[in-house]
This record gives sequence, structure tokens and C-alpha cells, in this order.
Amino acid sequence: MVKQVTVIGGGIIGASIAWHLTAAGARVCLVSDRPGGVATPNSFAWINATWGNPPDYFKLRIRAMREWTRLSREVSGLPLSWQGSIGWDLPDQEMLDYAAQHAGWGYDVRRIEADEIARLEPALAEIPPFALQVREEGVAEPLAATNTLIADARQKGMELVEGLHVTGLRNRQAGMDVLLADGEMLEADHAVLAAGAETAALAATLDIEVPVETPPGLLVHSRPVPPMLNGLVLAPGLHLRQTSEGRLVGGSDFGGMDPGADPQAAATELFGKLQQSLKGGEALEMEFLTIGHRPTPRDGFPIIGTVDGMDSLYLAVTHSGITLAPAIGLFAANEILDGTSEPLLAPYRLSRFAAAAPASPQAAQI
Ligand SMILES: Cc1cc2nc3c(=O)[nH]c(=O)nc-3n(C[C@H](O)[C@H](O)[C@H](O)COP(=O)(O)OP(=O)(O)OC[C@H]3O[C@@H](n4cnc5c(N)ncnc54)[C@H](O)[C@@H]3O)c2cc1C
Repeated sequence: MVKQVTVIGGGIIGASIAWHLTAAGARVCLVSDRPGGVATPNSFAWINATWGNPPDYFKLRIRAMREWTRLSREVSGLPLSWQGSIGWDLPDQEMLDYAAQHAGWGYDVRRIEADEIARLEPALAEIPPFALQVREEGVAEPLAATNTLIADARQKGMELVEGLHVTGLRNRQAGMDVLLADGEMLEADHAVLAAGAETAALAATLDIEVPVETPPGLLVHSRPVPPMLNGLVLAPGLHLRQTSEGRLVGGSDFGGMDPGADPQAAATELFGKLQQSLKGGEALEMEFLTIGHRPTPRDGFPIIGTVDGMDSLYLAVTHSGITLAPAIGLFAANEILDGTSEPLLAPYRLSRFAAAAPASPQAAQI
């Protein structure tokens, strides 16, 4: 029997899950008051499995990077760019330790010297003595990628209910009702809660506690300019990339900084730093700033999977959603439709919080 699934949330996570469910033959309805997402359009959108991750999380992230390649074969027009990164934003010894550890895990990270950095990124105003290059990292333009997934899923038969607010969920025998602000209700075999920062509030309507924090992240965006950068640049206190439209996007790191009481002043200062970091940077103009709120589970790791005792509800909330989206979409569809349990997701169930896992602020950065 064809399963009916309601997916709540039209950011990169909900879009990917809905796409994979639809492609696997489920009858899917995606409900979102803002298709394209809330955190998603304000993301730095770096796809990586970089430093600071314990081995299990590294495995999930590197698998997700491979799944982006697979997904780009299945969905035409996904705006992906495997442009690679150059980074020197750690103390020297930490950089070398990270490189040795991750290279040992099979990550394509290598040390490069100043002359090679200057050749790869000639627009950099200052060249460090050495850096780490990861050629297999990239970017998915986040809003365009999400909209492409939604459009492709619709072509495959997915229904989109947009602009409508979900007010709550109601568990019933062998199914889940999704309650809408207009008083209507969507009945389904399963509901997927992929509502980003709103996930906790919606789960609370079923008396389920989902520990999610939403730190703000300021990024600055220049007016589009001809190509200046060839890849991601991760300098101390400044992570930078150039979008496919030609905008330079910068944050104090990829996650952005707390904008404080005066975001415009913080953005102006940050943009000044961005200008100084590039030859000819004084000619750049800031076009706008964004402040995104990263849906971040309390211990910094994803919360993915059904809830114990409530098989009809599937949770998917995470930071690093741009990196993880294609793997989460694939695994969620398999788990919901086939009842399988994906080993790579085993550490990331909601039930771990019942055992009060210690916080891992380092992982929460990534
Ligand atoms: C500044 C910043 C930088 C980041 N950098 C990176 C990075 O470099 N690499 C990386 O991998 N990740 C990064 N992230 C994290 C990544 O962007 C997020 O993990 C991801 O976008 C989360 O996607 P989502 O779909 O879960 O949430 P969202 O994009 O927030 O989408 C939530 C969706 O749920 C819908 N919704 C919510 N409540 C309701 C309701 N009641 N009714 C109807 N619809 C509802 C919304 O309309 C929206 O469509 C960054 C995030 C930020 C903010």
C-alpha cells in the first residue's frame, strides 16, 4: 500500500526528505509557511566534513558529501559547486593534527605552502605561510537548491501546501494528524517534523521535548562582482566565499557571529575586514546583511528519527543542514517507508537526551 506522508517544513531538510519520499513512491504533502526555508536562505552553505568532529559524525558528514553527488545526478539543475577550500583559521599545531587525523580517515586534506596559496587565490591581500586545502569541499546555493528539490518533487507528484501555518500535531492509531491554522487538518500515515527552529514548539503539542537552540549568525553580502575567489577561504576571524551570482559572502566564521545590539554596525565592521582581506577590496560595496538562526540541537548533533513510542512521527532537526540534507533525506525515506534503521543515524536519535548526553560545544560550531 502506498504510504501517505506529511512533511512539515520547506527548508533544505524538509525539501530533501520530501523529495526522497516522493522519488521512492510515497504520496507526499509538504506543508510550509515559507517554502525555501528560514535558516536555509541565510546559510553560509559550506559542504564539509572538516575539523572538530568525532569519528561517527565525520562518517555521517562524508557520506552526506557523497550523497550530494548522487543527488545531483538525479535532480538536474542543483546549484552545487565543488570548489574546494583553503583554510588557516586554527593554531598551526591544531591544523597539522587535524590534517593528519582526517587524512587518516580518508579526507582529501593536504598542506599547501604560501606560493601555492597565492597561485590558487591570487586576490588574497595577505598570504599565510601555509594552509590546508580540501579539494572535495563545496557549496550548495541554499535557497536555489531547496527550491530545485521542491520543484522536482512536485513534478514527480508531491503536493505543496504553502503559506499555511501548522499549529500542532495529533497522534492517532497508526497515523498522525497535522493541524493547520485555517482549521483544516491533514491526515497521514506519518508526519515528518522538519520545521527548523520551530520544531521544538510543534513537538511540544505532542508533549515531546526536543532540545533545540537557535543562535543567531550575521553574514555580510557584497554587490555582485566579477570572479575574485576560486573557492572557500577560511581565514582567522573571516570565512569567505563568492556566490554563483558573484556576491562575496563573509562571516566571522561560516556560522556567523552574534550581531549584538547594533547589527548594522557589526556588519559594517565585518565588511571592512572582508574588504581588507582582498586586493581591490576597497571597491567592494556591501549590498545587505543577513541574520540567520541556526537550528542547533543542545549537544550540537542532529536529531533524526522516529520518536520512541510514536512510530508515526519522524523528527529531523540539525545544524549543518546544507551539508547533511541529501543523506538525511535518503535515510529518512528508507526508515519511514521500509522500517529499516540506518546505522549512521544510530547516535542521533532523540532518545539520547533521556540519558543526558554531555554538551559538545566544539561540534555545535560545525
Ligand atoms: C548563518 C548560518 C550559517 C550556516 N552555515 C552553514 C554551513 O556553512 N554549512 C552547513 O551545512 N550548514 C550551515 N548552516 C546551517 C543550515 O543552514 C541549517 O542547518 C539548515 O538550513 C536547516 O534547514 P531546515 O530545513 O531544518 O530549517 P529552515 O530552513 O529554518 O526551514 C524550516 C521550515 O519549516 C517551516 N515551518 C516552521 N514552522 C512552521 C509551521 N508552524 N508551519 C508551517 N511551516 C513551518 C518554515 O517555513 C521553513 O520552510 C548555517 C546556518 C546559518 C543560520
